[in-house]
Order: sequence, then C-alpha cells, then structure tokens
Amino acid sequence: AEEEVDEETARLQKMLSAYRGVWVFIEQTDGEAAKVSWELLGTGAELAKQLKVELCALVIGSGVEPLCGEAFAYGADKVYLLDAPVYRHYRTQPYNEAICHLIAKHKPEVILMGATGLGRDLAGAVATVIKTGLTADCTGLSIDDKRNLMQTRPAFGGNIMATIMCDKFRPQMATVRPHVMAMPDFVEGRTGTVVREDFAPVEESILTKVLEVISDRDGQDHVDIAGAEFIVSGGRGMVNRENFVLLQQFANEIGAVVGASRSAVDAGWMPHDRQVGQTGKTVRPKVYIACGISGAIQHMVGMQDSDIIIAINRDKDAPIFQIATYGIVGDLFQIVPALTRRLREL
Ligand code: FAD
Repeated sequence: AEEEVDEETARLQKMLSAYRGVWVFIEQTDGEAAKVSWELLGTGAELAKQLKVELCALVIGSGVEPLCGEAFAYGADKVYLLDAPVYRHYRTQPYNEAICHLIAKHKPEVILMGATGLGRDLAGAVATVIKTGLTADCTGLSIDDKRNLMQTRPAFGGNIMATIMCDKFRPQMATVRPHVMAMPDFVEGRTGTVVREDFAPVEESILTKVLEVISDRDGQDHVDIAGAEFIVSGGRGMVNRENFVLLQQFANEIGAVVGASRSAVDAGWMPHDRQVGQTGKTVRPKVYIACGISGAIQHMVGMQDSDIIIAINRDKDAPIFQIATYGIVGDLFQIVPALTRRLREL
C-alpha cells in the first residue's frame, strides 16, 4: 500500500511540474484594456519572480495588437495574441474555447483574471472545462514553498479571511476585484515576445450572435466610484434620500463623487452602483469621507486601502474610527453643511 501511495505522489508531482508560467488575461472592450488587467500584471510579476517563471499576458480580441506593447510596459515578458474577427465582442464560448486550447498547449501554472462581470463569467467557464479549482474575489495572493498559490479572500460574510489553495490540480485560477491590487509602473519602451496563436472557432459553431451593442452608459450620468480619487459616502445615519443632497453639495466643493453603504442602498437612497463594500465596489481613493457609516467589516473591506480615511459619526465607539486617519465625533447634519459653507468661502 505504501508503494501505491509513493506512486500516486510521484504521478502527482510529475503532473504538477509539467505546468509553468503565470498568465494574466487582459480584458478589453473595443481595444481598451480594463485597468484591473494591468493591476494583475503587477501582482503576476511578483508571483512569477517567486516561481522563477515567465509572466505572460493573454490578449484576445479583434484588432487588439496595440495592447501587446502596453502589456510589456506593465511588466509582461510574453504575450499570447489571438486576433480574429470571431473575438470582436466578448462571448463566453469562443473565449472559453480559445483559453482552454492555449492551456492544453502551453500548460500555465497560474491564471489570473479580473473579478469583473466578464472575468467572473469566463474564469468559471474555463475552470469547469479544464476541471481545476478557482478562487473568486481574492484580496491577497502569494506562493508557498511547494509552488502552491495561496489565495486569500473574505469568507463567511467577511467575518474571516480564508486562505485557499489548489494543491492537486493545475493551473491554479483566481479572480481579483478591480482596485484591490496596486497599479504597476508603466515602463515606456519595455519589450517582450509576441506569440501569435491562430486558433479561432468558426462563427457558425458559436451559439450566441451579437446583433447590437447598447452601452449602459448611453445618455446616463454615469459615475465611476471605483476609479474616483475623492469619495464622500453616506450610510444609515443620513436618515433619508433627500439628505444625500447635503453630501452631494459637499462633494461638489471638493470634486468628489458620492458613495454609500449597503444600508443606504438597500433603503433606496442611492443606486447600487454607488455601493462600497464586499457586495459593492472596492475603492482606493486618495480621500474617503464616511458620513454616518458605522464601519461594518463588509463595508471596510471595500474602502480600507484608501490613502486617507475621514470618519464623521456621532458614536465615538463606531468601528470606523479604528481605521480612520482623522475622526470627527459629532452630528453630521451640523458638520457636513458647516464644512461645505467653509469651503465655499475659501
Ligand atoms: P449602521 O451600521 O446602521 O450605522 C449607521 C451609523 O450612523 C452609526 O454608526 C451611527 O452612529 C451613525 N449616525 C447616525 N446618525 C448620525 C448623525 N446624525 N451624525 C453622525 N453619525 C450618525 N455593507 C456595505 O456597506 N457594503 C457592502 O458591500 C456590504 N455587503 C454585505 C454582505 C453581506 C454578506 C452582509 C451580511 C452584509 C453586508 N453589508 C454591506 C452590510 C453591513 O454588514 C452593514 O449592515 C452596513 O454596512 C451598515 O451600514 P451603515 O454603516 O450605513 O449603517
């Protein structure tokens, strides 16, 4: 029986060691990459260094060759490029088939994707086909002494941080939310190898057809809180929807956008795309001002990496003060209008 165990271990070791390289999927729309993909190249570079392997970017689309140069500038050593009309608009089936084909051919050890709508869809589809593990929404990634990817993410409603590994399957797959990882430096003129792949499923074999693309931003006043440098957020302490006008007036004075806690969103005071936290957006602004927000763990995981956190709360024991750079204990209905007035005078 011992021999059998040894044999099994040897077989597993051989299979695991056949996989090498860290890959980052470069998500793009009309040739413009999602910022999270570059953030992941930064993370991927650190992992690749520890594993002593190449950092590869996976660029798939139609007319997307210019992205190769950007991928090198952000740290990729190699780009696998699949450029064909069939990849013009994202559809799960052709992208999934393409990535599974490349995995079978090149055997990467680690694959990272952004935890965006597209990334979540694609990563799940790929992991299912190639029968490997996938950890969604990671907030930390590192390598252990057996080359396993240690994937940390909030679990049980954000009450604990769980570290997950996939020690018996390769590749190891993880998605990471936008803004969780820092942007790497852009090194102008940095180059690498472009590997052109010619795999492309025939259009007739694909079950979904794109008839028309209608942007959800058309005609709307879209605000991207995830990319904002200054955010003023309101919570249950705002009491009602009308009071958010006070926050908007304050935000206008400092060029900020207005965010919200889940309580404020659930109450219908703010739309869901303004929600900060575990089930909302992860933000990393220069300044985050929390007004009438208690600081539940699910809120804090979405904003704790802000450079400066200012909390306004009438409860001096509110947990938000534990992570605040500056805290104001008091009634926000006095403090916020007073700040706005003072700023207008300047
Ligand atoms: P409360 O906790 O009720 O706090 C209101 C605060 O306002 C209090 O601290 C109070 O002292 C203060 N206050 C009241 N009046 C005033 C005043 N006049 N002046 C100054 N201060 C005042 N929450 C999120 O925010 N984002 C998420 O993504 C998220 N995801 C979740 C996912 C799961 C699975 C679960 C279980 C929960 C999630 N939550 C999330 C909810 C979270 O647990 C909290 O319930 C929520 O963040 C609380 O919102 P709040 O701080 O606005 O409200």
